[in-house]
Amino acid sequence: MSLDKTSNQSLAEAQRRREEGYREKALKMYPWVCGRCGREFSGKRLSELTVHHRDHNHDNNPPDGSNWELLCLYCHDNEHARYTDQQYFAEGSTATPQAPKTTFKAFGGLAELLKQKDEAD
Ligand SMILES: [Zn+2]
Ligand SMILES: [Zn+2]
Repeated sequence: MSLDKTSNQSLAEAQRRREEGYREKALKMYPWVCGRCGREFSGKRLSELTVHHRDHNHDNNPPDGSNWELLCLYCHDNEHARYTDQQYFAEGSTATPQAPKTTFKAFGGLAELLKQKDEAD
């Protein structure tokens, strides 16, 4: 039966549409500047500016935009590196190909500490 596949596809489609909906709103609401590194975006490069959810809940989209933050791909990646991979990959379209550093990310801040220690040695 292909029933499962079909419903998965329409779910993904619905999610994609919803994401485009809030992205458009957020871009109207906020200046096209990354909230972390301060880079400005326009034209084609605007696709590198993504909408981050402050509470990491993509279903929380208040109309006043209080849960949104515009971040460039790199800063967005950074922001999510502190969270679980699952949360990150749920975001879909903003994902960039990942190097196999997932085990580090899973431990969040601890991994950062270990890494720093490593470099010091
Ligand atoms: Zn940035
Ligand atoms: Zn995000």
